[in-house]
Amino acid sequence: MQTLNHYINGQEVAATGDRFGDVFNPATGQVQCRVPMGTAAELDSAVQAARAAFPGWSAQPALRRARCIFRLKSLLEEHAEPLARILTSEHGKVLEDARGEVTRGLEVVEFACGAPQLLKGEYSDSVGTGVDSYALRQPLGVVAGITPFNFPAMVPLWMLPMALACGNTFVLKPSEKDPSASMLLADLIRQAGVPDGVFNVVHGDREAVDAILAHPDIQAISFVGSTPIARKIYETGTAHGKRVQALGGAKNHLVVMPDAPLEAAADALIGSAYGSAGERCMAISVAVVVGHDTADALVAQLKPRAEGLVIEPGEVPGAEMGPLITGEHRAKVHSYVDLGVEEGAELVVDGRAFTHPDAPDGFFFGGTLFDRVTPAMRIYQEEIFGPVLVVVRVGSFDEAVELINAHVYGNGVSIFTREGDAARAFVQRIQAGMVGVNIPIPVPVAFHSFGGWKQSLFGDHHIYGPEGIRFYTRLKTVTQRWHRGMREGADFYFPKLG
Ligand code: NAD
Repeated sequence: MQTLNHYINGQEVAATGDRFGDVFNPATGQVQCRVPMGTAAELDSAVQAARAAFPGWSAQPALRRARCIFRLKSLLEEHAEPLARILTSEHGKVLEDARGEVTRGLEVVEFACGAPQLLKGEYSDSVGTGVDSYALRQPLGVVAGITPFNFPAMVPLWMLPMALACGNTFVLKPSEKDPSASMLLADLIRQAGVPDGVFNVVHGDREAVDAILAHPDIQAISFVGSTPIARKIYETGTAHGKRVQALGGAKNHLVVMPDAPLEAAADALIGSAYGSAGERCMAISVAVVVGHDTADALVAQLKPRAEGLVIEPGEVPGAEMGPLITGEHRAKVHSYVDLGVEEGAELVVDGRAFTHPDAPDGFFFGGTLFDRVTPAMRIYQEEIFGPVLVVVRVGSFDEAVELINAHVYGNGVSIFTREGDAARAFVQRIQAGMVGVNIPIPVPVAFHSFGGWKQSLFGDHHIYGPEGIRFYTRLKTVTQRWHRGMREGADFYFPKLG
């Protein structure tokens, strides 16, 4: 069985540690390769390679770095299909969804091609007599990315094109559950002409992450994953003096107003709750329905559709939903459905017994729908990260807003309505980082930035887009005068240039 290597200083490097993890094909339940659990020494050798590459890479004109990113864009387009197939085989998401993941990652690569324009500083002429001032954005040095299992290509691509285009060098610690996509990315980055050491991959788990957090030569960390780990990364990373952006978990609500186009709202809920088996940080997992009549009509539409989901291995044409990532995760989702029943929610569609006839060992779970869920229930409060949609009934628009604003997470949120004033009030009042109006998954495009509020993000910067440029650079402001033989003598008072 194949054991993956790390990728350090432009080449694959065999693991030196003695811990390895299994990488499954979730559709069959079979182990398909092994991933090494990187050690602190391996992490250090990647950081040293990145550190050595930094002076040369950061000194290149931004235009030259952008040309490498342009070549990466073409290579990714050429290899989009094999990359998508890797995602399906290790993550389990259906192939069309995997293709969408690659496309959304590519959009960030396209945005990063504009680095020369994006890095342009500010210039003020004649801030004093004979004095000009300008501001530069300079790269930070070696930066690290730590990524989750649910988008093994897109989330690294939220980070690395921006970081590299800005002149940083990068160490990626991908998810140990589906690590192969990062090796294809490394190969394409090498083919794009990015010098050795600028991009490195160290596989692993907590040990490698703890080594990143403590490493004195890492200047900044981008993290995407669950909230408890995001909080740890933020607190430990900043305590070590690093700049950190740590994106965490979510419980995304979609409000259905009484005037909403009900079929469109049902389409939106089915696609966003069950797509990728609910393993998306922007999945809608709570429908907040205003009024009992609306709720009855909506649940009547959702029930047959949740029961009729086409659940298949990801390569099967027409598959709507694939398996969950691991057997362990399936057991966790199962236990949440048990809990919902104990808590007294109405189980409208029960996915617990689902098994695929041709793949009995696959980690499949059926679409699940709960109605009459209350805010006190844990199935409402906690992120389940599976194909489980809960319906909460409320009496008014204000109640919907208060409910959402009281939740600990604030990633994505959406409203379905035909009323402009309700939509506008929602956008103004809601406490979340990304808002959709008649859009179920409002993932910002690459030239905006992605990020949640509350416990969905720790740190000051959202990821990619203009915020990505700010995160991966620091500002330097220059005030300059050129003397033409003049002397003004010593000035003991605070300078007044104007
Ligand atoms: P996770 O937090 O378990 O793992 C994320 C990364 O942290 C992985 O690389 C993992 O190896 C590492 N890690 C895990 N435990 C650790 C520990 N104790 N110490 C140090 N490092 C550790 O998350 P996951 O299960 O891979 O991904 C799913 C989660 O990610 C969900 O909560 C989802 O909402 C979230 N997510 C958020 C966003 C977002 O943009 N906010 C995007 C995608 C996923």
